[in-house]
Amino acid sequence: MKKSEAISLAVNTEICRNCKNIVVGKGNKEAEIMFVGEAPGKNEDEQGIPFVGRAGKNLDELLRKVGLSLEDIYVVNILKCRPPENRDPLPAEIKAHTPWLIKQIEEIKPKIICSLGNYATKFFLAKGLVDDMKFQQGITSIHGKIYSINFGGVEIKLIPLFHPAAIIYKRDLAPLWEKDLEIVKREVSLFRGKVN
Ligand code: URA
Repeated sequence: MKKSEAISLAVNTEICRNCKNIVVGKGNKEAEIMFVGEAPGKNEDEQGIPFVGRAGKNLDELLRKVGLSLEDIYVVNILKCRPPENRDPLPAEIKAHTPWLIKQIEEIKPKIICSLGNYATKFFLAKGLVDDMKFQQGITSIHGKIYSINFGGVEIKLIPLFHPAAIIYKRDLAPLWEKDLEIVKREVSLFRGKVN
């Protein structure tokens, strides 16, 4: 599929016709690490930039803790448009929006993908087969594990993380989250050849 076809598949969904802005991504397109969230929220829809609201503030914190900045990563979402009232993504929407995500992966060729929360994680573990997402394990049992996957012809290490928004409401996830960040940090050091 051409990139233009992937984009028009997404743009032709109802959520895209009703949103204020299409949220494509932010960060460094040369980056080795890609963070994949779920869908834009209200602030993201207004600004056309992913993770600029409360969840985004938490993600910024996460990055600071592992010594990363937007220079080191590229941030995208499964859905490029905000679902009404931030409802969960529908399978048909994931099917229509993820060909664009796959084009982004093919272009950026990240070495590590940190999937944020259940939707992004299950999409990758199901190898992009949306109907198989329901058979995948939830984030609670697999966060912080490292999976080798081949996606869009790119060899990637997938590290599922709790969604930064979940940490806002469940503070007891914060220590687990920090442990997972150490794993991300170690993987980053490994491929940069800077293991201490
Ligand atoms: N949550 C997401 O998953 N993505 C965003 O861009 C904002 C909040």
